[in-house]
Amino acid sequence: MRSHYCGDITEAYIDQTVTFCGWVHRRRDHGGVIFLDVRDREGLVQVVFDPDTVEAFNTADSVRSEFVVQITGRVRARPAGSENENMNTGKIEILGKEIAVLNKAATPPFPLDEYSPVGEDVRLHYRYMDLRRDEMQHNLRFRHKVTTHIRNFLDQNGFLDIETPILTRATPEGARDYLVPSRTHQGSFFALPQSPQLFKQLLMVSGFDRYYQIAKCFRDEDLRADRQPEFTQIDIEASFIDEEQIMEITQGMIKGIFKEQLGVDLGDFPRMPYSEAMTRFGSDKPDLRIPMELVDVADLLQDIEFKVFAGPAKDPKGRVAALKVPGGAELSRKQIDEYTKYVSIYGAKGLAWIKVNELENGVNGLQSPIIKFIGEDNTMKIMERLDVKNGDIVFFGADKAKIVNEAIGALRVKLGLDLNLLEKEWAPMWVVDFPMFEETSDGGLTAIHHPFTAPSCSPEELKADPVNALSRAYDMVLNGVELGGGSLRIHDQQMQQTVFEILNISEEEQQEKFGFLLDALKFGAPPHGGLAFGLDRLIMLMVGADSIREVIAFPKTQSAACVMTDAPGVVENKNLREVGIQLRPKETK
Ligand code: ASP
Repeated sequence: MRSHYCGDITEAYIDQTVTFCGWVHRRRDHGGVIFLDVRDREGLVQVVFDPDTVEAFNTADSVRSEFVVQITGRVRARPAGSENENMNTGKIEILGKEIAVLNKAATPPFPLDEYSPVGEDVRLHYRYMDLRRDEMQHNLRFRHKVTTHIRNFLDQNGFLDIETPILTRATPEGARDYLVPSRTHQGSFFALPQSPQLFKQLLMVSGFDRYYQIAKCFRDEDLRADRQPEFTQIDIEASFIDEEQIMEITQGMIKGIFKEQLGVDLGDFPRMPYSEAMTRFGSDKPDLRIPMELVDVADLLQDIEFKVFAGPAKDPKGRVAALKVPGGAELSRKQIDEYTKYVSIYGAKGLAWIKVNELENGVNGLQSPIIKFIGEDNTMKIMERLDVKNGDIVFFGADKAKIVNEAIGALRVKLGLDLNLLEKEWAPMWVVDFPMFEETSDGGLTAIHHPFTAPSCSPEELKADPVNALSRAYDMVLNGVELGGGSLRIHDQQMQQTVFEILNISEEEQQEKFGFLLDALKFGAPPHGGLAFGLDRLIMLMVGADSIREVIAFPKTQSAACVMTDAPGVVENKNLREVGIQLRPKETK
């Protein structure tokens, strides 16, 4: 139907006759001459119809935005002075000879030929129209380039692309499962995979040695953050390999993608133990573009009367941390109130602060509602420890360590972005030496990564002190976002059972849920490990989008629904009966 894409017709084709197809992006009537900008995937081309070609002129006159057309015409140079340097086709225009309307279009729900603010619900409802816009075309093409790069890279490094099931059993990655009822085994359910974790490990037992998959994963989580119920992982596993090699290969892959697709050299990836990341940044995914750090001051505040500080300072599970913000003394009362509200999301009960106005006047040069509670001496010692300068503000968090880390860690990032304190554009890193487990609110233990992660110690040592045991896990972090995580795995049956025991999974439940894994570990499982990257997040960071929804063709809303297809949908009773399901009346809260 066409000889060229619209966006590809350059001055190289001057005087040639071309045929192209696309959508009418814009139509203008310039005193008896009709101009059409016609758009396809490769870009726009300008077409001119003059009244001499009567039939074509009349058709061109009748088309409207987003009509689908096929046009034949002659390429000619644009008149001097009307070139557009910003367009690939900006030096030429087409003198239209023939135009066929291949399809009409109703008035678009939002204009596509100019920027106009459109609510996300409208965009998602008409996603197929939204995807016609430049940014979305760019994002999805960019995504394609990155996945192609990844496939080539992994192929060259000996990784085999192998698919794993979507209808499967639960894979514990810490979220709720999406369940699918079985018609042939009524009363039983498949779970959609939270990750291909166990299958990729079994492929190592089978001797495939190096595996990858660009895999859909499903997690039924509350979508408070920028998450999707289904998302894509670059899932990798390899045998006879240690953490160094896995980190080297995957770091090489990410560096290559940035170099080739963005021309960015990510440089070295510093490594930081989990404990250091928590102490200095209050986060296991520190944003190292921001120079600020949390500083412990509990030792100075243990003996004061003021319980808000003294309590957590004395509590072994408490923390009192200070955050110095350069230039922050300019923050208004209202802004500080807003940051106080912000940290309350993370459970902080308040946000104490000290402004440094004139340090040369000692404590009199400071401004704060809390100096009278913590004492002048302590205040000055804190100022010294933080090495403050005039114009700084110091914020404090005092609570359980978990709350202080989350609240002040998040405040650090927010202030870094709000006050534009970023020191560089890209800050990649590895976080290593994660603990194996963390304590749950009911006093039990849960795996920090997943229960198949190898510990750095023997089963006996693990049993003796599970809370302090470290794992052989590693996370790649970029700009405060966890890009990927992985670990060396347990390949020894006894070790796997020890971990299950620590997690309070009875022998019976072990057999029921993971019997196939425990069996497989008996039949010569090689040492192995791997990692999975979040593809959506990677692309989001690379294109500079605000949300992963901007890099997914058909994403779900924050409430895990698709407003275009209206999924999830109601199912007829007949279909429910087939799978042995009867609905309960809706619970009213
Ligand atoms: N399965 C893990 C995850 O989805 C990644 C890995 O350990 O390779 O987080």
